[in-house]
Amino acid sequence: YIIRSAEFVKSGTDESHYPEALKSEYLFLGRSNVGKSSLINAIVNRKNLARTSSEPGKTITMNFFNINNEIYLVDAPGYGYARRSKTSIAQFQQMLLNYIQNRDSLKRIFMLIDMKVGATKDDIEVYGSMKRAGYEVTILLTKQDKLNQSERSKNVNMIKSQLNDAEVLMIPTSSESKRGIEKIHAIFEEDLHE
Ligand code: GDP
Repeated sequence: YIIRSAEFVKSGTDESHYPEALKSEYLFLGRSNVGKSSLINAIVNRKNLARTSSEPGKTITMNFFNINNEIYLVDAPGYGYARRSKTSIAQFQQMLLNYIQNRDSLKRIFMLIDMKVGATKDDIEVYGSMKRAGYEVTILLTKQDKLNQSERSKNVNMIKSQLNDAEVLMIPTSSESKRGIEKIHAIFEEDLHE
């Protein structure tokens, strides 16, 4: 898959703010600091399209990016970020569930897990709730460059067992080395020709 254009379209907190559901959509989900903005930027080959969650003024919204006028990438707020108050946790969960359950154009859920840190309690909870709701989730392991070869295979196994899912599809990635980016592009390409 070749990125010819990538632009921010809209952000919002409910269906009425979202763009019309006319293109296949890929949701990117993960806790704050997992490397989500860096990975989205690496996927679309832009330095600063997705902004990092540590930037002031980043609000709790779903952010839509139009890629090649063909697909949307949807950047969900990092869940640590949504934990600043009880209200915002509830808002975040409601927004995410509404989106997942009602968005007809949702093609695939990518959940990011830090390959060095492993799955956090939040990650395990979010993963479990997606599976229970009947959704396939593709795991993008982030910051692969931080680990050596033996740590990589050890942590892949550790994360499978933390998620209690031996069959889960996991793709090791790095925004630094660009590892795994081609595999993600290949998924977009395959989906287009389905
Ligand atoms: P977000 O909060 O999930 O959007 O995470 P960011 O993309 O802002 O990244 C959080 C931190 O992790 C930053 O300091 C990044 O430089 C670092 N980081 C992100 N991706 C990678 C990676 O692939 N390798 C390494 N070594 N660090 C990364």
